[in-house]
Amino acid sequence: MIEAGVKLAETRRRLRECEAFALQVRLGHDLKDGPILTSVTDQPFEMSFKCSRCGVTLWFEDKGSQRWRLHAESREHGAQICRGRIVGEPIDHPISTAVAGASRR
Ligand SMILES: [Zn+2]
Repeated sequence: MIEAGVKLAETRRRLRECEAFALQVRLGHDLKDGPILTSVTDQPFEMSFKCSRCGVTLWFEDKGSQRWRLHAESREHGAQICRGRIVGEPIDHPISTAVAGASRR
């Protein structure tokens, strides 16, 4: 059972590194671990995260090779900016270091 727990934690970590997950974070969602669906071999094939701000639950599905994408049923919610997001909070401002570096001779 311990081994299965480690495997799940590892899979969670990989999912959190995927672009599909990063996109949701950029939309303002604060995603906490939710229920997981596993196959008979204990391999997770669908994992969910719940946003602590707006309460939306997003499901991700395994596309193989440690790549995950937003499940079709979650796309309706996942494509939207988090409604619980704090107004005025910056979402992912790209800092222009190139400009700052150019002024320094
Ligand atoms: Zn949200």
